[in-house]
Amino acid sequence: MKDWILNTILDKEAGSLEAMAMGLAGVNIITGHTAARINSNLPGEVSGVTLDDGRLIHCEMVVVAIGVRPRLDTVVESGLKVNRGITVDRHMAASAPDVYACGDVAEAYDFIIGGNRLTPVWPNAYNGGRVAGLNMAGQTAEYEGGTAMNSLKYFGLHIVSAGLVAPPNDSYETITKKIDSAYRKVILRNGRLAGLVFTGDIEKSGIVYNLMKDGADVSNFKKALVADDFGLAYLPKNLRQARLLMPEEAAGPGVTGLEEPEVLPVGD
Ligand SMILES: Cc1cc2nc3c(=O)[nH]c(=O)nc-3n(C[C@H](O)[C@H](O)[C@H](O)COP(=O)(O)OP(=O)(O)OC[C@H]3O[C@@H](n4cnc5c(N)ncnc54)[C@H](O)[C@@H]3O)c2cc1C
Repeated sequence: MKDWILNTILDKEAGSLEAMAMGLAGVNIITGHTAARINSNLPGEVSGVTLDDGRLIHCEMVVVAIGVRPRLDTVVESGLKVNRGITVDRHMAASAPDVYACGDVAEAYDFIIGGNRLTPVWPNAYNGGRVAGLNMAGQTAEYEGGTAMNSLKYFGLHIVSAGLVAPPNDSYETITKKIDSAYRKVILRNGRLAGLVFTGDIEKSGIVYNLMKDGADVSNFKKALVADDFGLAYLPKNLRQARLLMPEEAAGPGVTGLEEPEVLPVGD
């Protein structure tokens, strides 16, 4: 329907690179149109699809995959505050006492937009679910927020995107670099990352994502974020050290600091 494929999670450039990879694999892509009718000659059998411009495509199977929409029919009558999903606060609490929501059905805090929106991916469902569960069990826990993020590899092309994939207005800065299918783009606002799209060479996208999640000021090394050799070495000392040391909560109970490396006898 839209101008390019995967338009909610990829910008136009990354969408065209993916379309190219699919084209090379023999997939014929039609954009800017939708199916107006599914045709059938025999009961229970599909014979083709008629597009909105009248074109007829013969086929034996139709797969419909047109996005995610929470099923709110069970709650609309309840009076709970809903928008595109069930609206929840930072405790994942809905608008009525003792009611919590999380996962795809919840419209929860997005740390990039600084407000609520649907971000229907598994890590956000997991994190929001944990916070909802803790609060329901009597502990106070706050959802730090999630954002849109996707990692795909269709027809051999690695793609990672997170946060915004296109700047919504002029207050954002975009830095891009493209060599063949290695395309990197970061979106910044006030020196802090608001989005990223990496295709082909995605190896360092995790570092960029974490800088975005931590709200780090990247203004002094913003151009390096899309460089071929970008890595932890580009980060200022304080940011680099924080990323090299294992946080105590990640180390688990009883373990403080880094584990000693295993010493292997020479020859083994
Ligand atoms: C094809 C596909 C691919 C995906 N790929 C990825 C991916 O690669 N990475 C990623 O992070 N996320 C991915 N997702 C999204 C991810 O699956 C969801 O974000 C996650 O499952 C949301 O968890 P949830 O518990 O909110 O909802 P769900 O996992 O949908 O669980 C909701 C459950 O509620 C049940 N239910 C519904 N109505 C009722 C009712 N009235 N009574 C009782 N039970 C009911 C349903 O049967 C279901 O079991 C993908 C989703 C799809 C559909």
